Amino acid sequence: MIEGRDWPDCKKCGEGLLIPLSDYGRDGASIMFKAWVCSNPGCGFNIRIDNGEISLGRTIGQSNK
Ligand SMILES: [Zn+2]
Repeated sequence: MIEGRDWPDCKKCGEGLLIPLSDYGRDGASIMFKAWVCSNPGCGFNIRIDNGEISLGRTIGQSNK
């Protein structure tokens, strides 16, 4: 867990916190806060930012099949 900072509450489940994820661009520069995901595994809420557009609710790295 990331400690010592106040992450925003997840508005979907109201239990988890939204944790920012970083990514790296093609030139190796880090992209801060590219995506935010809920820390509650049962919720799965996430926000991604791609090329300045925000997309909601896509499942990242996990499926329930
Ligand atoms: Zn949540």
